[in-house]
Amino acid sequence: MKKYFFLLLIVVLISIYYFLRNPMGVDKNSSLISINKTEFGTLKNGTVVYKYTLENKIGTKVSIITYGGIITNLKTFNKSGALEDIVLGYNSLEEYIKESPYFGAIVGRYGNRISKGKFSINGKEYNLVRNDGQNHLHGGNIGFDKVIWDATTQTDKNSASLILSYTSGDMEEGYPGNLETKVIYTLNNENSIEVLYEAITDKPTIINLTQHSYFNLSGDFSESILDHEVKINANAFLPVDKTLIPTGEIVNVESTPFDFRKFKRIGKDINFENEQLIIGNGYDHCWVLNDYGTMRFVAAAYHSRSGRFLEVYSDEPGMQFYSGNFLDGTLPRRDEGYYGNRSGFCFETQHYPNSPNNKEFPSVVLKPNELYTSKTTFHFSLK
Ligand code: BGC
Repeated sequence: MKKYFFLLLIVVLISIYYFLRNPMGVDKNSSLISINKTEFGTLKNGTVVYKYTLENKIGTKVSIITYGGIITNLKTFNKSGALEDIVLGYNSLEEYIKESPYFGAIVGRYGNRISKGKFSINGKEYNLVRNDGQNHLHGGNIGFDKVIWDATTQTDKNSASLILSYTSGDMEEGYPGNLETKVIYTLNNENSIEVLYEAITDKPTIINLTQHSYFNLSGDFSESILDHEVKINANAFLPVDKTLIPTGEIVNVESTPFDFRKFKRIGKDINFENEQLIIGNGYDHCWVLNDYGTMRFVAAAYHSRSGRFLEVYSDEPGMQFYSGNFLDGTLPRRDEGYYGNRSGFCFETQHYPNSPNNKEFPSVVLKPNELYTSKTTFHFSLK
């Protein structure tokens, strides 16, 4: 009898413990991960653009619209507990349509430049739209940053996902093949945003998708990003010609302003008398990331006053580090004023620019029956 009483007591105590920890019996994590859908605007043809806001248990919020798959807002806490936006963007759809330097967008079919818009597959030459002087840039006039994506959502205990799909027709912007594309944004309770890209084609084609968020970890867009400290896991970078096409050389970063193997202020060397910095008007180059072939650490940025720390992991061979050199104080900020020169930086994980015309670079060709995949994770913390 005594034995049964003792067992019963243990069961009662365990029940009380669990009741006190979670009185409503709800799954705390799943109740704290959420997705909220609202209307963001309407296109001239009547298509409604939706905004999805994903929030995790920490309180980080990321908003993505179905136009361009654009991350319009990304709010994280600073070390004093203030929740602030850390990406450049606008308040309205009209502003994104009017003029945007790819703020927060999915870029495709080919992120970055292709020389003279020309490339060949199996001996057949293709001519893409030339929308950057004589070159093709970021998918053309109506790239993936300007199309409407279908959206579905999925949540589980520790993550919320927005699944975006878009089928790009054969010869759209000059690219061969019907390309079925999926981009999955996932925010999790570890405070990471994972971007997974997938695509299939019905004809041999080329593809190089990326994400074009401009970060300013200070949370204050009146500030430049020059005092952010950056680290890039790369021993080499790709010098460019005057039209920002890689020359084909792979140059060691040692003793150059392009050495970010240890944390360095973006502003430290950016104004050096250096031919490459003059051409790029600052940093606008692709770094040749170490250890291609695995998902690994590729870059980080730290802003000491806010304490915000961003780490990037990717399976891509390259990363365009763009220091917002073409921001010229004419695009309106969300709060007040205008986005000034170098008020945001991009970490665009991708294959190398102009790869279709350089046999030495990793291939960007996608054939029928193959699955294109690419993955990049942005992790946010405080230091
Ligand atoms: C390119 C820049 C370009 C910017 C906005 C970046 O990915 O490297 O040269 O100005 O996108 O278009």
